[in-house]
Amino acid sequence: MQFETPAPPPAARRAPTFQANPATDARQLLGALLPPRPALCHVLQAHARLAVLGLATARVLPHLLAALPRFLPGAASCSSYPLSLYRRSDDSSAFASNHLIRVLPHPLPLSLFPRLPRRNPHSFTFLLASLSNHLDADPTDGSSASRFLGSHVHALAVKAGAADDLYVRNALVHFYGVCGDVGAMRRVFDELPRVRDVVTWNAVLAGYVRAGTVGHAREVFDGMPVKDEVSWSTVVGGYVKEGELEVALGVFRNMVVQGVRANEAAVVTALSAAAQLGLLEQGRFVHEVAQREGMPVSANVGAALVDMYSKCGSVAAAREVFDAMPRRDVFAWNSMICGLAAHGLGQDAVELFEQFVSEGFCPTNVSFVGVLNACSRSGLVDEGRWYFRLMAEKYGIEPEMEHYGCIVDLLGRAGLVQDAIELIEGMRITPDPVLWGTILSACKRYGLVDLGVTVGNKLIELEPAHDGHYVLLASLYATAKKWDEVRKVRRLMSSRGTSKSAGWSLMEAHGIVHKFLVGDMDHKDSVRIYNMLGMIGRRLAEAGYVPDVSSVLHDIGDEEKVHAIKVHSERLAIAYGFIVVEAGSPIRIVKNLSVCGDCHEFSKMVTKVFDREIIVRDGSRFHHMKEGKCSCLDY
Ligand code: ZN
Ligand code: ZN
Repeated sequence: MQFETPAPPPAARRAPTFQANPATDARQLLGALLPPRPALCHVLQAHARLAVLGLATARVLPHLLAALPRFLPGAASCSSYPLSLYRRSDDSSAFASNHLIRVLPHPLPLSLFPRLPRRNPHSFTFLLASLSNHLDADPTDGSSASRFLGSHVHALAVKAGAADDLYVRNALVHFYGVCGDVGAMRRVFDELPRVRDVVTWNAVLAGYVRAGTVGHAREVFDGMPVKDEVSWSTVVGGYVKEGELEVALGVFRNMVVQGVRANEAAVVTALSAAAQLGLLEQGRFVHEVAQREGMPVSANVGAALVDMYSKCGSVAAAREVFDAMPRRDVFAWNSMICGLAAHGLGQDAVELFEQFVSEGFCPTNVSFVGVLNACSRSGLVDEGRWYFRLMAEKYGIEPEMEHYGCIVDLLGRAGLVQDAIELIEGMRITPDPVLWGTILSACKRYGLVDLGVTVGNKLIELEPAHDGHYVLLASLYATAKKWDEVRKVRRLMSSRGTSKSAGWSLMEAHGIVHKFLVGDMDHKDSVRIYNMLGMIGRRLAEAGYVPDVSSVLHDIGDEEKVHAIKVHSERLAIAYGFIVVEAGSPIRIVKNLSVCGDCHEFSKMVTKVFDREIIVRDGSRFHHMKEGKCSCLDY
């Protein structure tokens, strides 16, 4: 793994000694004085040195102007220095004018433009780029006004005969793309097919991706005469943005097969696709590509790797990347804290949070989701309450639904149901039904039947189509052995025709992703899978595994439903795992819904009887199952 070597601080660069010779090439001198990407202070230092040497002439000043960093929109106070440089330099040069346009913050370039004595096609390019940057940084800020100004610049360029220039065209395509005006973008692109290069094509791709029409981007991409790494990474990013994660990973693989070097953007977006899907093999592949190419582990790449490994169930690998990162940003810290929490390593997550704060970082709302989640998973009630208060009192972060979710979960798990209810009732935002669902689960766990019934009925009123609420309420009655009530709830549920969203499980094997549905017979190895499942069932029965008959789903379920549980998608995935995953490696499964109680027991038993490890990522957390135990502590 290679790491970025940070640039030496400017003070460490020994300025060369020059003879005060006016003939010395100004650019050469400046090049020696300035670091590669100078900040304002570096330019000021260089200017001072030139002045001391008596070399700050009108001919040198435009080069200082050119070296200035681009100021961000809104930084109007940064305009006086470039303006004074410009006024004192040889102001008839187009070079100076163009660099003034480039470095001034929006909207100064536009107001200066009519008064600039010399223009050339680059002036239009810089002016359009200034507008695009402004829109890019703040899309809400008067975009229609900026759009109008941009088309005005377009008209001026046509009038000045500069609109045939390749750079101006590229700037126009980019500008209309940033505005979201794909019609105008396409017109400029189609107008002069001979005046295009790969930058023009890439700008069109980016415009379509930004507008959320990755399909159009794909058409353009497929028609490109030459593609570079920017073209590929734009399309990968476009698919990720639209949630077409498998396609994005496919495009990434294709890029690698074609021998195109992956850039940072492609790696980061492909890692995010693998993370969202929870597919470790895919994520590892992207990591290997980055390593093979010697890509430095920048803050961005590192954060994406940490996120990918922890969301793909390999928290140890995430920690390894995290510990080795030369520079970590808030995203990397947040991913690591949340990752540890999701894997049930609450104590580690809390310690890392404390380290994060002690290193001088300011926690964000996501950091608090992580640490609260950690407290809830590890039963750290007092710590959880303390962090919840700290968040608002010290950091001024208003609790959001996710924070409430964590703290209600924490209190509910600890049996402090009444406290949790008070908290929900005092919320400033409308509570999500999920919070009441958490309370209902806590009532079931602690046998608080009356309270649970009130909450359950409330929930059914709030979300009559959500079958999970009926199931929970029925199971609450079942714990209290109120079978009549159980049947009533069940009748209510079927009369309302609630819909259960279809459950599926994913499993990776040798680079191929296999998807299983309940009772799936479509897999090419179906026969072997069902035989394997039968064998597993027999071995478990011999070992004394009895399906959880008290489970309400069995009690109220008909034959069909009982059978359905036996062929739940994760069981099919486990059986297939026995066939294709070599012994000694964990079987990794990604599930869209929560694992049902019976499958959870079944999986734990499998890990004990067959001495295998199973890692399931379900809708809300990870289950690391080993030797008959699960990291979620069966909650
Ligand atoms: Zn199940
Ligand atoms: Zn579990």
